[in-house]
Amino acid sequence: MSNKLIAGNWKMNLSVADSRKLAKRVEDATTKHADKVEVVVAPSTIALTEVSKELKSGKTKVGVQNIYFVDEGAYTGEVSAVQAQEFVDYAIVGHSERRQLFNESNEDVARKVAACLRSDITPILCVGETGYERDHGETTQVINDQLATCLTMLVASDMEHIVIAYEPIWAIGTGKNADSKAVASAADTIQKTVKEMFGEKASDGVRILYGGSVKADTAKSYLSLDNIDGLLVGGASLSDHEFVAIVEHAADGE
Ligand code: PEP
Repeated sequence: MSNKLIAGNWKMNLSVADSRKLAKRVEDATTKHADKVEVVVAPSTIALTEVSKELKSGKTKVGVQNIYFVDEGAYTGEVSAVQAQEFVDYAIVGHSERRQLFNESNEDVARKVAACLRSDITPILCVGETGYERDHGETTQVINDQLATCLTMLVASDMEHIVIAYEPIWAIGTGKNADSKAVASAADTIQKTVKEMFGEKASDGVRILYGGSVKADTAKSYLSLDNIDGLLVGGASLSDHEFVAIVEHAADGE
């Protein structure tokens, strides 16, 4: 069994100084679990270089919350994977906030996943359904459609270098907890789709996270699922106590 991965998405929060302090507190409290849990923090892009300096030992990894799919050029306001690679190991791509607020399509996300891999960054590809789609029994179809397009530029051997996060949109930032059976079923759908697209070895190699209002007291129910390899944590990752407690649950194997 591979180590669990716990990633914190700080979104557009914290000053550069506060990002640095939080990164240090997280690292100090979780280094002792480094042989059991892989910890990633994804600060706002403006704090990326400072946080990466703070975490230079590499025990806590750094992620970027978004990248552009072109490597360089006249794209005002964007940051490419080529630029980010000096500072990060991971990139969150296709987060529902980017899809909904910035109109990112599955085609855009596919290009971002490919751009990450070109630059040796591990993409954390987010997929998941809206509340409407869940209520209409469309979860499996939505996940399949998202993966079919978002993974289209890849080959089987890429699958061990990507992480897929199941993030039901209705659970993100809402405090609503997804039922753990539904999460296991969505993870199963992801595995089956990857298997259909790239074969069994590829589907065995891909890591699957759950994300959606996870807190220290709900983390265990998701971490105990056989097909969940870790968590993508938003709001609760801004509290070092909550986030460290989640990492500790992962280290305990719960
Ligand atoms: C997220 O932003 O990926 C996320 C899961 O947020 P939250 O934990 O706040 O729902």
